[in-house]
Amino acid sequence: MSTVRFKALEAVMSRAPKEVNYPSAKVSDYYGVHVFDKDAMSQYMPKDIYKAVVEAIDKGTRVERKITDLVASSMKSWAMEKGCTHYTHWFQPLTGTTAEKHDAFFEPICDNNVVERFDGNQLVQQEPDASSLPNGGIRNTFEARGYTAWDPSSPAFIIGKTLCIPTIFISYTGESLDYKMPLLKALHAVDKAAVDVNQYFDKNVNKVIATLGWEQEYFLVDIALFNARPDLITTGRTVFGHSPAKGQELEDHYFGAIPERASAFMRELEIECMRLGIPVKTRHNEVAPNQFECAPIFEEANLAVDHNQLLMDIMDRVARKHNFKVLLHEKPYAGVNGSGKHNNWSLSTNTGVNLLSPGSTPKSNLRFLTFFINTIKAVHDNADLLRSSIATPGNEHRLGANEAPPAIISVFIGSQLTKVLNQLEAKVSENKALSADEKTELKLNIGKIPQILLDNTDRNRTSPFAFTGNKFEFRAVGSTANCANAMTIINTIVAKQLVDFKEDVDALISKGDKKDDAIFKVLRRYVVESKKIRFEGNGYGEEWLKEAAKRGLNNINSAPHALDVMKEQKTIDLFASQGVLTHRELEARHEIALDNYTTVIRIESRVMGDLAINHIIPVAIRYQNILINNVKGLKTIYDAADFKKNAKNQLEMIAAISNHIQIISENAEKMRVERKRINNLESAEERAKEYSLKVKPFFDIIRKSVDKLELTIDDEMWPLPKYRELLYTK
Ligand code: ADP
Ligand code: MG
Repeated sequence: MSTVRFKALEAVMSRAPKEVNYPSAKVSDYYGVHVFDKDAMSQYMPKDIYKAVVEAIDKGTRVERKITDLVASSMKSWAMEKGCTHYTHWFQPLTGTTAEKHDAFFEPICDNNVVERFDGNQLVQQEPDASSLPNGGIRNTFEARGYTAWDPSSPAFIIGKTLCIPTIFISYTGESLDYKMPLLKALHAVDKAAVDVNQYFDKNVNKVIATLGWEQEYFLVDIALFNARPDLITTGRTVFGHSPAKGQELEDHYFGAIPERASAFMRELEIECMRLGIPVKTRHNEVAPNQFECAPIFEEANLAVDHNQLLMDIMDRVARKHNFKVLLHEKPYAGVNGSGKHNNWSLSTNTGVNLLSPGSTPKSNLRFLTFFINTIKAVHDNADLLRSSIATPGNEHRLGANEAPPAIISVFIGSQLTKVLNQLEAKVSENKALSADEKTELKLNIGKIPQILLDNTDRNRTSPFAFTGNKFEFRAVGSTANCANAMTIINTIVAKQLVDFKEDVDALISKGDKKDDAIFKVLRRYVVESKKIRFEGNGYGEEWLKEAAKRGLNNINSAPHALDVMKEQKTIDLFASQGVLTHRELEARHEIALDNYTTVIRIESRVMGDLAINHIIPVAIRYQNILINNVKGLKTIYDAADFKKNAKNQLEMIAAISNHIQIISENAEKMRVERKRINNLESAEERAKEYSLKVKPFFDIIRKSVDKLELTIDDEMWPLPKYRELLYTK
């Protein structure tokens, strides 16, 4: 009997939900208590220091060095009163996780004596040992060190007994080594470009922020079952496993009652999030069994990115207390719905206007149309770049794999707005001014949209980039991703587009066009030019593949190939023009993404080979021997004719097992030889592409035979927890 699997199952059966009590009946009693927010700052800082810091935060400028000692000491007092003993610079290197290095607040002064210390120097800058963090060659060439620098725009917070200070991570030569620095630059670029465009409509606008509301999907699995699957432990996904008899097709899980253990986990997760000022809101079951979702109210994008990274950390910690493991992988189980992280994105002004929300007056609607159409144009012109922002090995299972939507970027806007854009195209002409009535009609038509859109939920869940009433929803982002990557690209391409728009409109105005006419003409041109990116049909259907090809839209399945766009001159120019990434930074990022791909596929391939050869084949042989003994026994009790009849099934099974063993071992060996060859290739790009094209295909072949064996072999002998156990055990 396979002891690990059955011991794990026994452990799961004996579990009871953990009791979780709310700290108080009122959320406001504990909301944000672990955050050094404006409220806490005002209590712990002298008034003038507080004012200076808030101003720097709001304006996105540096906090002056001469006051950082005072900021640090108030931060320290606050944190120590809450029981903190350590502090750390918290940052987001390109590994995809967060990193921290803890230092104690105290420093030795003389024999047996220490003093609590945390001053401006330690707040502003640290030098983590970053030798193992990816840098794409940036640190090798010049200076081996990198340092972290305080980002005052994201508030410090407490985890356990540690004060965490959000920072950016850069090399000594000033190049960014993390997700945050380019994000902050992109947010700055879109702010500037959007403020400029807003001057056509409202001169009071002097600040535009990007907003992000993410929706995090994940699976829960019992920790004992998780530990019995070496593939889950090392890769986050199951490389083998036959579909359960009870499949997802029943879909009774969706919005179904949340099992009690999971519900206790979510309650504790919510409490922890609330304490950290993460405004999580929804929880329900997702499409697949044991799959769930967590989403906060949207926030300013930089903060939302930090909150999502924090959430993923907290989930892991809280899950352990409930004997769960959180699976954030995009596709932990083949044949079962995968996990994504929808990024809801919009732009919002200091005057409180959501620029992607259709208004109620003709004037506000022209502004809405402007930002709406410019976003579509930006996606149209940069579809490949947007695709590259979500090109990871995990997400490859969700984009373009057998059971997933194709990797084609398109935009869904709904029938109402399609009508408005069609009308705009028909009514506006290059050489004739619109009459006052025509303008009003065009603008007013949009005013009817919000109710219709939101009420009818005129939605298309198959679109990778959909307009949903007052925001765009980028749905193709992977569940493990740092949202900063997608957010950096979206905000950069929209910034660039808005700059171009302003130039185009100003050019017409200087030739004598009235402002509104100029805006309408340019918008009309964009509507026409970006038409091919708009798709309202079923994005999962066969016909879309043909239609998209006819339109000339790319469909790049392989992640390393989807990254090619990062090498193009157009991309280099785009990032340079918006001051987001230098050519060198871009090159480094490309290389890091490629290396990451290679590493992940290499590990998956090794785990697969290991499991197949050391866990599966030995069990298959043992079971085959049982069958062989059975057949030998039958031969002793039956005459030739009866034997043939009674041993037929067993003999077929024996042959089938031999066949699968042969397929598995042959292909595992071929795969190993391929790995060895590819590992010796010079270029990171070549390695990643070869892993995609030459190693990955073995996965399907080997898996097919292993999964067949799972169906054949005695359940009691099977070593790995099965899908039905992973997915349906509560
Ligand atoms: P679903 O996609 O599951 O149907 P919703 O469309 O209701 O769910 O998703 C709502 C998400 O959109 C929430 O996370 C919310 O915070 C976010 N959201 C709403 N308005 C905005 C906005 N102006 N900017 C960014 N995100 C927003
Ligand atoms: Mg959504």
